[in-house]
Amino acid sequence: MTLTTYDLAAEAGAILSRLGVPAAIWKEGTLAVRSPVTGEALGSAQEVGPAEATKAIDAAHKAFLEWRLVPAPKRGELIRLLGEELRAAKSELGRLVSIEAGKITSEGLGEVQEMIDICDFAVGLSRQLYGLTIATERADHRMMETWHPLGVVGIISAFNFPVAVWSWNAALALVAGNSIVWKPSEKTPLTAIASHAIFEKALKRYVEAGYTAPDGLSTLLIGGAAVGEALVDHPKVPLVSATGSTRMGRAVGPKLAGRFARAILELGGNNAAIVTPSANLDLTLRGVAFAAMGTAGQRCTSLRRLFVHESVYDTLVPRLKKAYGSVPVGNPLEAGTLVGPLIDEAAFNGMQKALEEAKAAGGSVSGGERLLANEAANAFYVRPAIVEMPEQVGPVVEETFAPILYVIKYSNFDDALELNNAVPQGLSSSIFTNDVREAEAFTSARGSDCGIANVNIGPSGAEIGGAFGGEKETGGGRESGSDAWKAYMRRATNTINYGSSLPLAQGVKFDV
Ligand code: NAD
Repeated sequence: MTLTTYDLAAEAGAILSRLGVPAAIWKEGTLAVRSPVTGEALGSAQEVGPAEATKAIDAAHKAFLEWRLVPAPKRGELIRLLGEELRAAKSELGRLVSIEAGKITSEGLGEVQEMIDICDFAVGLSRQLYGLTIATERADHRMMETWHPLGVVGIISAFNFPVAVWSWNAALALVAGNSIVWKPSEKTPLTAIASHAIFEKALKRYVEAGYTAPDGLSTLLIGGAAVGEALVDHPKVPLVSATGSTRMGRAVGPKLAGRFARAILELGGNNAAIVTPSANLDLTLRGVAFAAMGTAGQRCTSLRRLFVHESVYDTLVPRLKKAYGSVPVGNPLEAGTLVGPLIDEAAFNGMQKALEEAKAAGGSVSGGERLLANEAANAFYVRPAIVEMPEQVGPVVEETFAPILYVIKYSNFDDALELNNAVPQGLSSSIFTNDVREAEAFTSARGSDCGIANVNIGPSGAEIGGAFGGEKETGGGRESGSDAWKAYMRRATNTINYGSSLPLAQGVKFDV
């Protein structure tokens, strides 16, 4: 089927209607929504302004005051039901992700699977929000930590993981006893509306089962940066988890710091992989191809820089170029497609600009040209580009959110490590090697400086069980698994005297 034969507006509308979303919400608003698959309009979502956002945050604060009193395992029951509703809606929501964000089918479904997985994780967590008991120097005393809910958690998300990022934050924040307010990307409001409708189904079942949940527990605010700013500026939002570009983080971070609010910043990446002489090149080829071309290079963890040892360069790089020349680019809704469209024209222009700059810096470019423009003039498909660079300069040290892989030859392992770390971003990284010394060095204190450092898998993608996030300009935030839940709670240290004297710490005497 050609791109023009799809009626994606009708399909998106049918999905939203089956999820019980009134047409007015996505059809009669002011925010134009388009599909990157065909470039055509999908609908017009209803937006809120900053004043309405502020009112919604006030309501969310009231909800928090009640929700924090619900025992955590009972809060977990709501997330268990959300997981069930997501399982039931997986194919529909996954399809909508593909329609609105342009992901290939398996990645659209995979994104919803991540939502389900984090719900399962959070349900278990709801019985494990425990602190330590700590040895005290005083007789008849006990010292311990308790973890308490924080308040309203603001969630700002990017277009490229339009629903999973919300769920990573929402599932943890809610079991932790917070209320949540979500400002999704203005490029992907329909998937947000759908996710919220799914959440409301879970909430309805929760209440029908006899549990208590306050109004305003979870709010969706559709709008642009000004609505995000309302979240960032509101004094009753003690934590904002913001995912997006470093440019956005630079605006949001200092404002939150200015009012001593917490931030989880999940910002841009410029991820690298090192291919060493001992690497299994078949495995490397597949790992690199998926990490660099998957999601059309529009993952924060996409592989953008590849350092190849001189002894394997002439074997690996021609094979990679062949894969780049033949990878199926096209309609992400069709089986067999591996690379879908860029999100919009601005992304296409950004890619072309970076390729021009790379050429000016001595790079040799293969690919990068626009495809399928004759079928869909407003959709932006490209052949992924591979650029052999003489050194790490110019656009190589920046994040261009498009499928460009810069390849640089190296001869010394320590130089490759230095190149890996010599960019402002610090999200993800990997090494392909069968040499245990190189693998261990890469993951050691003198190795990769990123939040994610992998061995024999690419840098892109992550499992929800681990803490996710990166260093330097990536913002330093961690969310999802491990102990990331602690960021959504406040810790109190309690000392309890169960004796009848009052010994002071450090031997201090104060007898009155
Ligand atoms: P973006 O920065 O343009 O927008 C992200 C979100 O921030 C949107 O909801 C937007 O409305 C909001 N926003 C923008 N300016 C704001 C402001 N001043 N105050 C409050 N909110 C504001 O990003 P994008 O183009 O949607 O997404 C791509 C970027 O996101 C890439 O840089 C990518 O690396 C990054 N990203 C990072 C992660 C991660 O976990 N590190 C995950 C996904 C995407």
